[in-house]
Amino acid sequence: MTSEPQDETGAPARATPAEEGGDRHCGFAALAGRPNVGKSTLLNALLGRKVSIVSPKPQTTRTRIHGVLTRPDMQIVFVDLPGIHANQTRAMNRYMNRTALSSLADSDVNLMVVEALRWTDEDERVLDELKRAARPILLLVNKVDRVHPKERLFQYLADVAPKAAFAELVPISATRRSGLNRLPELIARHLPLSPLLFPADQVTDAPERFMAAEIVREKLMLRLQEELPYGIFVEIEGMGESEDEPGKLVVQAVIWVERTGQKSIVIGKAGERLKEIGRAARLELNRHFGRHVHLELWVKVKEGWSDDENALRKFGYES
Ligand code: GDP
Ligand code: MG
Repeated sequence: MTSEPQDETGAPARATPAEEGGDRHCGFAALAGRPNVGKSTLLNALLGRKVSIVSPKPQTTRTRIHGVLTRPDMQIVFVDLPGIHANQTRAMNRYMNRTALSSLADSDVNLMVVEALRWTDEDERVLDELKRAARPILLLVNKVDRVHPKERLFQYLADVAPKAAFAELVPISATRRSGLNRLPELIARHLPLSPLLFPADQVTDAPERFMAAEIVREKLMLRLQEELPYGIFVEIEGMGESEDEPGKLVVQAVIWVERTGQKSIVIGKAGERLKEIGRAARLELNRHFGRHVHLELWVKVKEGWSDDENALRKFGYES
């Protein structure tokens, strides 16, 4: 998995002496914010490829995902956190909160993402945590494409600016990629000079199996109704070269659900929904791996996994 570091004009980053081992601004920037404000979309836009799955549903991002942006003068390691949740009762939510909160104090700079014109109690709680982490905070006001007329944005910025000693306030639209040009530079200012933390051609530290599972899970989330907010997990049971067709990659995935009723929802009438999910996932897997993928999908039931600490560990949600 390689990808050239690029700037937003698509030009490959030029090699400079820094690339031969000199120091540059390197460090960690966590993306914090309540669910659904656009953290994963922003990360993918900044990196120019998908490292974190996106859906209109909260809880799409469950684990910490690192995305790495390397340029001649900087290397930013973005940490895409699961949203911070008010509901602490489920093991899954407790896990996601632990993951989110422990990263904030470990980063060099924190990026708080909010939705333009909105500031909820949940945003307020996220800001409290960020203040506790005591790192510089950049406030990224996302989804400005939805603001009409634009004057309303100025009033909003004036209202939120005094809430903390923000290092910057940056209006952006992650989906339209507007306002993103300056962002790496603004972040890098807060990073210490050091040698590279990751190889220059590495865009994510997520293992390929994890990416495959996430791609299947994204297609599931996009096609399911509200009835399945928690109860899905995708496990890759096997991944390897096809024996029948050389060059083809075989991916064997199990969709775990919590109840038999959910199983029939995932499969759909005459298997139609599962077929559609499989088709969409396979197309994206083809793109992601740059080769033909044969995807085998099963649906299996395991009761109550998202509220079971042991099952969470088995499924790889280590803390
Ligand atoms: P996260 O939970 O914070 O990671 O949010 P996601 O990145 O998964 O995005 C949640 C939803 O907001 C998705 O439907 C995105 O397409 C949408 N979204 C993200 N950024 C923007 C934006 O700049 N403008 C608009 N209109 N929608 C956005
Ligand atoms: Mg996310």
